[in-house]
Amino acid sequence: MEPKQAWGAVSLLMLLAVAVLVVAFVTMGYSVMVVTSVGAVAILVYVYVLYKRYNVEVVPESDIRLFTEPDDLRILCRIYGLDCSGDDEALRSRLVQFAHKNRSKAFAWVAPKAVLSLGSALEAGEGTAPDVTPAKPHLTGGQERSEARLTAIRSCPICDAKVSGKDKVCWECGADLEFYTVFQGSKVGRRFVTEKAKEVRRKLRYDVPSLGEKT
Ligand SMILES: [Zn+2]
Repeated sequence: MEPKQAWGAVSLLMLLAVAVLVVAFVTMGYSVMVVTSVGAVAILVYVYVLYKRYNVEVVPESDIRLFTEPDDLRILCRIYGLDCSGDDEALRSRLVQFAHKNRSKAFAWVAPKAVLSLGSALEAGEGTAPDVTPAKPHLTGGQERSEARLTAIRSCPICDAKVSGKDKVCWECGADLEFYTVFQGSKVGRRFVTEKAKEVRRKLRYDVPSLGEKT
């Protein structure tokens, strides 16, 4: 089942539940005005979260090929509600398939597994993955690298380390500064950078040897 239909089914359930609760509270003697307002707010919040979290900007196929780190591919898979297991080849081909399927759209609906299985027990098998070869790291959105843009970058978009404006990669976390700065300009890029930042910060913490550790 497609994420969109799955969300449709779940949303219908949600609406029904709210309606049942509203009727229940009204029969219990609560003010109709108050109860319906609370119900309406609940629905608005639900719709807002749904759009904000699960209607995701599609990264085009050409941009997916620019991501070479397995960690980056895994974050993208997570954002798109795809399986996060396997090596970088498996992750990339899953992402390319997703981008290919949604190539005509700017935004696509995604859904976690629980929602999908709740929506339907019928799942179409995964098609054969197209051939993927990692491309040279240009920038997302088909943009060219520019000296001016790089010079203007003063802090790493991933780990927030101060950078000179001359370095291409971050001295602290090794991120390609211009690449992630440009990607950050899109909605999905912003979310990606937030997720990657969390992981990188966790890693940087682990890399520091613990002082109490005995050899
Ligand atoms: Zn950094």
